[in-house]
Amino acid sequence: MADRVRPYLFYDVVVSICGTCFRRVEGKLLIADDRVYMSKRCPEHGEERVLVADDAEYWRRSREVFIKPPEQPNHFNTETRWGCPYDCGLCPSHEQHSCLTLVEVTDHCNLRCPVCYSSSGPERPAYRSLATIERMLDAIVANEREPDVVQISGGEPTLHPEFFAILDAARRRPIKHLMVNTNGVRLASDPAFVEQLASYRRGFEVYLQFDSLEREALLKLRGADLRSVRERALAALDEHEISTTLVVTVMRGVNDSEVGRIVEFAASRRCVRGVTFQPVQSAGRLDGFDPARDRLTLTEVRRRILEQTSIFRPEDVIPVPCHPDGIAMAYALKINGSLVPLTGLVPPEVLVDGGRNTIVYEQDATIRDRLFRLFSTNHSPDSAGHSLRDLLCCLPHVDAPQSLRYEDVFRVLVMQFIDAHSFDLRAIKKTCVHIAHPDGRIIPFDTFNLFYRDDLETTRLTPLRRDAEARAGVV
Ligand code: SF4
Ligand code: SF4
Ligand SMILES: [Zn+2]
Repeated sequence: MADRVRPYLFYDVVVSICGTCFRRVEGKLLIADDRVYMSKRCPEHGEERVLVADDAEYWRRSREVFIKPPEQPNHFNTETRWGCPYDCGLCPSHEQHSCLTLVEVTDHCNLRCPVCYSSSGPERPAYRSLATIERMLDAIVANEREPDVVQISGGEPTLHPEFFAILDAARRRPIKHLMVNTNGVRLASDPAFVEQLASYRRGFEVYLQFDSLEREALLKLRGADLRSVRERALAALDEHEISTTLVVTVMRGVNDSEVGRIVEFAASRRCVRGVTFQPVQSAGRLDGFDPARDRLTLTEVRRRILEQTSIFRPEDVIPVPCHPDGIAMAYALKINGSLVPLTGLVPPEVLVDGGRNTIVYEQDATIRDRLFRLFSTNHSPDSAGHSLRDLLCCLPHVDAPQSLRYEDVFRVLVMQFIDAHSFDLRAIKKTCVHIAHPDGRIIPFDTFNLFYRDDLETTRLTPLRRDAEARAGVV
C-alpha cells in the first residue's frame, strides 16, 4: 500500500502562467519535507516545478491566518473582459487597493545594472513630461482619494530635469507619504541637490538602493563598485536627517549571506528607518540570471534574517495582512543603534494561533483592528509611533515607552514580487504595490513587469488576449 502513497501533501490547485510562453496554465500546490512547490504544466512547454516556500508552516499561516477582508479603491480603471491577469487594472476583480503606488518618471539611468526590472540605462534618454506625470498622480488620487504611499521611481528619477517640480506636484495632492526610489549616485555627488531634497523632509522617505557591503556582489548586481557612493549618499542623508529605507535586491549566492550584516549596518545609521529585502524578480534585464539557480523565495530570505541576526525570533517576522503572500515584516524599536523587536512583544497566540477558535485574536475586535492598522503597510509612517503606542498600551504586561516616535521605529520588510515562475492568480489579485500607467490605468507592479511594461502589451499580451477570446467564443 505504501508504494501507492504519493510522497507529498496535495494542498490545492493553482492557476499560474507558463514560465516560457506566459499562457495561463493549471497547476498544483504540493507540500513535501516542509517545503511548498508549485507543479504546473504547459501543453507546449511541459512540466515546471517551482519552489514556492521553504517553510510550509509559515506559508500556510500566511494564507490561512493573516488575512483580512480586502479594501477596495474608490474607483476601478478597467472592466473585466479577458480575465485575470489580462484586464489590469485595477479591474473590479482585484482584491486590494493600492497600499503603495509607483510613478516612473523616466527610463533613463546613470547606471546599467545587470539586473534591472525596468531595463533602464544611459541609452534610454526619454523623460516623461510633467503634464503626463501630473495625470498619473491624478489617476492615483482618483483611485485612492488620499493615497497612502506614492513612490517616485524610474529609471533614476533624480536625473529628471523637472525632478523638484514633480515633488511639488505630488505635494499639491493629498498624498500621505512620498518616497523617492534612487540608486544614490546623485545624492552622493550633489550636495546642493540633497539640501533642496531636505526641504521635503516631512512625510518623505528616500528608498535607497543598497544591495551589499561587498565589492563583488555590487559588481554582479549593479555592474559597479558602489561602496563609496552608498557611503557618501548615506552621509548626506544623515546630515540632513532625511528618513531612508535601504532596499536590497537579494540573489542566491550573491548577497544572501549578508542579510544580517545589512540589518545591523542599517540600525547603526541615524537616518535609516528600515530595510526592505526584495528577492530578485525574473523580469526586465537579467544578465547572467538563471531562475532555476538564482531565485529566492520570501521564506528563504526570512530564514536568513532569523539565522544571521540575533535580533529577531520567528514570531517577530510575520506576514503583512493586506498581502500576506508577498510581504513579511518585523517592527523593532531602534534604541541607540540597537534593535528591540516589537512584533514579538505581541503574545504569539494573538498573532499566530488566532484562528477562529482562539480567544483574543478573533474576539477582540479592538486589538485585531489595531494590529491590522499597525501591520499594514498602508498607514502613514507619521502616525506609526502613535499606533504602536496604542498597541503596546492595550497589552497589559508591556511597558510602552512614553516617548515613542516614528524616528525610533525600525521596519524590516521582505517584499517578494511575483514573476512568471511563482505566478499564482489568487496571490496576484491581492497585491497592493501598484504602478501608474501613463494612460491612466493603475496596474499591479507584478503584472506590469510581466505584461504591460514598454511594448509587452502588444508583443506578449495581445496574442494571449486573442487566444482567451477565441476559447471563450467571444470572437
Ligand atoms: S491582476 Fe488584478 S487588476 Fe489585473 S486583471 Fe487580475 S484582478 Fe484585475
Ligand atoms: S536597477 Fe535602478 S539603478 Fe540599476 S539600471 Fe535599473 S533603474 Fe538604474
Ligand atoms: Zn508554455
